[in-house]
Amino acid sequence: MRNQLNKNLLLSLFSLLLLAACATSPTGRTQLEFFPSNQMAQMGETAYRQIKQETPVSQDPAINRYVRCVAEAVTAAAPPPQSGGQWKVTVFKADQPNAFALPGGYIGIHTGLLSVAENADQLAAVIGHEIGHVTAQHGNARLSTQYATQAGLQLVQTLAGTPNSATGQQLMALLGLGTQVGIILPFSRAQESEADILGLRYMARAGFDPRQSIQLWKNMMQTGGPQPLEFLSTHPADQSRIRHLEQDLPEALDLYQQARDQGQRPECKLETRQ
Ligand SMILES: [Zn+2]
Repeated sequence: MRNQLNKNLLLSLFSLLLLAACATSPTGRTQLEFFPSNQMAQMGETAYRQIKQETPVSQDPAINRYVRCVAEAVTAAAPPPQSGGQWKVTVFKADQPNAFALPGGYIGIHTGLLSVAENADQLAAVIGHEIGHVTAQHGNARLSTQYATQAGLQLVQTLAGTPNSATGQQLMALLGLGTQVGIILPFSRAQESEADILGLRYMARAGFDPRQSIQLWKNMMQTGGPQPLEFLSTHPADQSRIRHLEQDLPEALDLYQQARDQGQRPECKLETRQ
């Protein structure tokens, strides 16, 4: 009897904890956000330092000017990083087309991306998408889910004693065990769609043509080589992604038109050396 009471109390506490950590994302999805923004920013900074140790920074002034021009226009049309402060842009000298954004406001662009994102609008689409993951706190949600799963596992052990008991199995099912959530695994489909929607908004508000986002993903799909693109392993480009982008295009085109009417016409050009 006493044991049962303890179980109920633990379950209630766990549910309360989950409820308290539930937050609404910018497009109205509910997700777990356990971690305060300064802690997320610290994790972002640590990851960023590590990348900087492993990958050389590009010193090419023309490429840096171009990437900064696009990134500054897009970030000016997006919310600041949750921790406050500015978005920081680094161009990495790496042939593998890739881009990322981290909590704390770190944006990284590989020089190799410029062979896939063939103009400023397409580069803006990538940057918009990546910072969309940060403003929607997808990293926080992913870590929180992992945290909840681990906390849940301990709870299962406390509750059930043996993992084979009926209670244990029920809880395992409730927690959706088997889902491995790790830092290098791709974001979920829902998170990818959300980053696409936010990215379209940010680029359009900055005065970049949102139609170019579709061409960008088509380029991604067509870029072949001995190895599949690393970017594609975490950002699957397929027909369903393009269909969703097309659905969201009318709203983005309205924003684009408004921005252009208000004089948002970023002039970012890559001056190639002769
Ligand atoms: Zn993504």
